[in-house]
Amino acid sequence: MSQNPTIAIVGSGPIGSAYARVLLERLPSARVVMFEAGPQLTERPGESVRNIADPEEKARAREISQGPQSGSHRESLGLPAGTVAEGMFTARQGTHLLDFGGEGSAHAPTFPAAAAATNVGGQGAHWTCATPSPAFSERIPFIANREWDELIRTAGELLHVQSAAFADSAVGGAIRSLLEEEFGDELPEGYGVGTLPVAGDPQPDGSMRWAGADAVLGPLIDKDSPLSAQFELHDLTLVRRIDLEATRVTGVTVEDLRTGETSLVAADVVVVAADAFRSPQLLWASGIRPSALGHYLTEHPVVISTVALDAEKMMRFATEEDLAAELARRAMNPADPVAAVNRIPFSEPDHPFSVQVMYAETTPFPMEPRTPYANNRWGYVNMGYGMRKQPRYEDGVTFDDKEPDYRGLPNMTITYSLTEREHAEIKEATLRLRRAGGALGVFVAEPRLMPNGSSLHYQGTMRMGEKDDGTSVADPWSRVWGYDNLLVGGNALIPTATAMNPTLMSVAIAVRGARKLADELSFTTAVASKGPDVTERR
Ligand code: FAD
Repeated sequence: MSQNPTIAIVGSGPIGSAYARVLLERLPSARVVMFEAGPQLTERPGESVRNIADPEEKARAREISQGPQSGSHRESLGLPAGTVAEGMFTARQGTHLLDFGGEGSAHAPTFPAAAAATNVGGQGAHWTCATPSPAFSERIPFIANREWDELIRTAGELLHVQSAAFADSAVGGAIRSLLEEEFGDELPEGYGVGTLPVAGDPQPDGSMRWAGADAVLGPLIDKDSPLSAQFELHDLTLVRRIDLEATRVTGVTVEDLRTGETSLVAADVVVVAADAFRSPQLLWASGIRPSALGHYLTEHPVVISTVALDAEKMMRFATEEDLAAELARRAMNPADPVAAVNRIPFSEPDHPFSVQVMYAETTPFPMEPRTPYANNRWGYVNMGYGMRKQPRYEDGVTFDDKEPDYRGLPNMTITYSLTEREHAEIKEATLRLRRAGGALGVFVAEPRLMPNGSSLHYQGTMRMGEKDDGTSVADPWSRVWGYDNLLVGGNALIPTATAMNPTLMSVAIAVRGARKLADELSFTTAVASKGPDVTERR
């Protein structure tokens, strides 16, 4: 290994970015090369599209994130039109369905809403930025609680997490008081109704600058920082294969999607953070096939609804003046519809749900002006109960070497089903959502279970484990079992059944892996430069 090791990172989402940042801060002489299959959307790489004020520019950024099939993006690459398939796009703007029904589409009839984003910043350019921490059995048992707390704190700093965002909103406060009246007695100390931690920086006008991978990359994309000279980001560059010599990774084979040229890039270490479906797909395509790869898929079954806030109820805790102040604040940032954000966190044994309550002036769907509660003066809340899925080998993604997908990689088939245990928790969550709605106002969208895959929180397909017993893909520091210089990152590493939004946890896991890798590379490069002295000190 050279004295200045090269680390290749596949994927530019929050996790690949966390690896880049921690590695370069600990090892400033290293070279980090990041490859991203999608285009760069904003001048500052990886910024949240929610920060784009111009609606047309925002719509364009979302469209070109929707994979190489999306219209104008396809044309910009000089590719012929015609392969766009019906149903390619989900309702979640910026993402594209894996099972889109066209040529090279994945097969996912039991997990139909599975989606991805293909752009610099990954899904992290489109996310809601909710960043609760794992608690109770959500945490990984072989990482000690004290270490978890420190990792979560560091992950929170990387993502610019605010635990009391919009806490000054009186309307948000009234919503919390009403929910507290309904549920307070049933919730354990420290896990009651509260504000939802979110990733972003509050602005002087009361709005939020939402965090994307740009926040995580920090000094790496700041031209005044010396670290930026050690970091390269190549957008529209698809990693087709991880190159190996026996069990040692030697680099990656990449395709420049602008020119169609393929090249080999040598690397001392490769980190794959290309989401929970495309990372295992790349490993599989490269002949790296641990028996747990792709299996143990979990996500969060989600029951959602929209409620028109009842004036009489709200005015027990807030005034007309409070509402006017809230509306004035909202008017300063019309580009972003989210105002106060509240939650009830996951707790055990009696509240295995992560509840998100987002206050907004308008409904997320159009309402006929004459329907009851259209233009409701006190606004609305969009509420969701996220639940656990217990990991099982049979839920997962498999790959077919004989059937190429639209990118020419082994095509995916996702198989997934809910068990009685999950159905029972869904039933209980639906009852509680009805109670929450009744406490706040009137349903304008009744509670409903979203199709499998809707959470966008896909976990478990490259799970980490304490020992190499065939039920995990990576070791406790995210290294693929049997491959010293290959690491994996992302929600796919999470082996537990969780209910909370997973990104903060996955960044914490990445911090752990990156620190260990940086320590090892520092040692190895020191040996290379100083010879036997260092070895003796060991
Ligand atoms: P990603 O962000 O998915 O990035 C992976 C990147 O890898 C992609 O850009 C992809 O193009 C690239 N890639 C894939 N294959 C290759 C290849 N072969 N070569 C090169 N590049 C490749 N999470 C939360 O915790 N809280 C939330 O509130 C929340 N809300 C969300 C709302 C929406 C609308 C969406 C879409 C997601 C949301 N998420 C949320 C999920 C969150 O965005 C993800 O957990 C997070 O982005 C995962 O980061 P990642 O870096 O692992 O993967």
